[in-house]
Amino acid sequence: TKKVINIIEPSSGQEKPHFVLVPLFAQGHMIPMVDFGCLLAARGALVTIVTTPVNTTRIKSFVDRANADGLVIRLAELQFPCAEQWPKPTCLVSDSSNPWTRDVARELGLLRFIFHGPSCFFLLCSHNVHEYASSGDVPGDFFQPFFVPGLPQKIEVVRVQALRFFDYPGWEKFLEQKTEAEATADGHIINTFRELESPFLDHYQRALGKTIWHIGPVSLSNKKPEDAIFRGDKTIAEEARRISNWLDAKDTASVIYVSFGTIVSNSPSHTLEIGTGLEASNRPFIWVIKQWDILPEVEKWLPELEERTRSRGLILKGWAPQVMILSHPSVGAFLTHCGWNSTQEAVSLGIPMITWPHLADQFLNENLVVKVLQTGVALKPQMKTLYVSRESEGLIAREDVERAIEAVMDGGEEAQARRQRAKQLAIEAKKAMEPGGSSYESLTLMIQHVLDATSVKLHDTETTVR
Ligand code: UDP
Repeated sequence: TKKVINIIEPSSGQEKPHFVLVPLFAQGHMIPMVDFGCLLAARGALVTIVTTPVNTTRIKSFVDRANADGLVIRLAELQFPCAEQWPKPTCLVSDSSNPWTRDVARELGLLRFIFHGPSCFFLLCSHNVHEYASSGDVPGDFFQPFFVPGLPQKIEVVRVQALRFFDYPGWEKFLEQKTEAEATADGHIINTFRELESPFLDHYQRALGKTIWHIGPVSLSNKKPEDAIFRGDKTIAEEARRISNWLDAKDTASVIYVSFGTIVSNSPSHTLEIGTGLEASNRPFIWVIKQWDILPEVEKWLPELEERTRSRGLILKGWAPQVMILSHPSVGAFLTHCGWNSTQEAVSLGIPMITWPHLADQFLNENLVVKVLQTGVALKPQMKTLYVSRESEGLIAREDVERAIEAVMDGGEEAQARRQRAKQLAIEAKKAMEPGGSSYESLTLMIQHVLDATSVKLHDTETTVR
């Protein structure tokens, strides 16, 4: 089949549009922004990613590889004055948590788009809960269950798990600036795809009264195996090979992958419940434990657990090449904290999830996965807490881990239907990112919107895709 690739084409003497991306300097925000930069550069745009020295060390080798592939992306570390030889920026794309960029864009006369980290489902639900707060449809009690008002589907939540980002005491001024920056932006970008969140995208677009471009899942921009290995942080190639060989020796869809992202932490007792639950499941697993979760108690019993599960368990300490692991056919389920990147990665690779949200948007992401998409099982249904932290105790038990793993992996009718739905979504995600797909075309419209401000054109290139 022939597909149309839209490439930016300046006439002679004209400059290419130059996008300046300003992520929030946290890995869960940097990673999708770098992927987004690669997507823009692949269409022929110039891209600058604003970064800090520490984040540069994490992403430099990845960006160097993209440059070697012909993509024009540079990193601008904040402490240095910007190099002046690049053309003036055309458009500033800012993480929603950087409202200060509004004044910068205004001063320089730039178009400004907001890049949202979370799901559209979260953005819409938390928006509605706030909007309807005084309508009687939202209880004053933060832990009393209610249905999110104004949704196309009945979703029960507790208010404390459906708050907007930064809607916390002490953050009023910042939230006001953030809301103002969003209301005055020239458009909004969400890392999602239409087939995943269609009704919520439509509702949110109406609520915002602004254009939304849905351009994801951006993780699918990592097409080569090496991209998946080096994305996000430094992974030693040898370690990646060791993991890959370990997975190669396991049966298809048999391995449980367990990871809780880059910022949450677990108490030693919760870590123990996870470990003993995995042991009791009798199934192969890869368990990523962050260094900060290896407190003395954990350090003491972990080697014993490792010894007992040696034949079927792989415990990785620190950073793991997550997309590489999830892409492997031996992985059959993902026990996740429901960070939106991890959720999207599981969705785009067709992996059913076991959900254990810890904070912020993760609770609503769990609702999306378990109740709307029905591709996951909650580790602990209706866990009414504001925050799962290092101090949390007794929220989950090994039996919960065992039960949830069994539910996802037991091969029964329900589990098979869930797996089938997950596979179907992965097909749709991939299609969305290909020429002609919903996200591909949404990105084209976004670029076109920027080009309309200049006289640069988009050029249709026919290509044959098998
Ligand atoms: N990630 C990874 N290896 C790790 C931990 C995380 O590659 O050991 C990546 C993961 O693939 C995802 C991101 O880091 O892209 C985490 O983002 P997410 O939104 O899931 O969670 P957060 O860390 O922001 O809570």
